[in-house]
Amino acid sequence: MQERPAANAIADLGGETMGTTWRVRLSVPRTRALRPLHDGIQERLDAVVAQMSPWEPDSDISRYNRAAADTWHALPPEFLAVLQAAIEIAAASDGAFDPTLGALVDLWGFGPGGAHPRLPDPAALDAARPHCGWRRLELDASGTRLRQPGGLRLDLSAIAKGFGVDAVAADLREAGIDGALVEVGGELRGFGRRPDGEYWRVLVEAVADADEAPCVLPLDGCAVATSGDRWHRFEHDGRRYSHSIDPRSGAPVADAAAAVTVVAGDAMRADAWSTALTVLGPEDGFALAARHGLAARFAQRGSGGAISRATPAFERLLAE
Ligand code: AMP
Ligand code: MG
Repeated sequence: MQERPAANAIADLGGETMGTTWRVRLSVPRTRALRPLHDGIQERLDAVVAQMSPWEPDSDISRYNRAAADTWHALPPEFLAVLQAAIEIAAASDGAFDPTLGALVDLWGFGPGGAHPRLPDPAALDAARPHCGWRRLELDASGTRLRQPGGLRLDLSAIAKGFGVDAVAADLREAGIDGALVEVGGELRGFGRRPDGEYWRVLVEAVADADEAPCVLPLDGCAVATSGDRWHRFEHDGRRYSHSIDPRSGAPVADAAAAVTVVAGDAMRADAWSTALTVLGPEDGFALAARHGLAARFAQRGSGGAISRATPAFERLLAE
């Protein structure tokens, strides 16, 4: 006999990963043992860190980043899947999303090589820039080995959280869970229903203190990611520097939109696109999102208060 939804309750699990926190809400029978589920989620996220965190000296990404010029590196399947998606979105965003900015991220103090955001030495920036650029990425014919052309430093931080969310959601389905809301550092994916039969709903980031009506999204088998300068930034001489780097200038995006929210079928793409659109900004980013049929919303603090603008695909989601 099938389990009736009424027999389920919400279980709330959480932990730490990728320099932030994870949280998973599950719709499960009250009798379900939660410890194995919790440990499975933590293990999955630890595996993503062990492959893709530049903060871990022994991760696959750190070893690749340190490798000598002209060497080839076999990478695990999860890493390759993230890299392929990163390259796809780099191409689709005309390079606004770029997974090869590790050296610049460090110089601006947002990465493991620089503990505090700061203004870098211009000569160091000039020296680092030629080593960046997603077009320098080269996979072998089998698509499993990546070449280190020399000095290239991968940074998958704008996409790996989303990948982690997708991987955890897939594991939970595999474990027979029929409804869950998975979150890593603000990137979310929902599937199935809550015990009361409702969709999982999330409140979309708005500009702080804005007196806008809250924007609530149902997450029915899709994901939402938010990027922008609200969480990580620094100020110098009255200018705000965001942790999103514009690959065209090699510098942090000036006046980044306060929050760019993207809804997509998977969290990995939502994560990468929200970064790309933050880099492109509310004009060019909005136009690109509309052209690609992306569901995106830009929230910004203007002189007359908070302004938000959503693409038609995003508006349709709200109407559901
Ligand atoms: P997110 O919060 O998802 O936008 O990711 C921001 C992080 O991604 C930064 O802290 C950097 O490590 C990295 N990053 C910065 N700019 C870019 C970019 N243009 N493309 C890809 N990754 C970036
Ligand atoms: Mg991102």
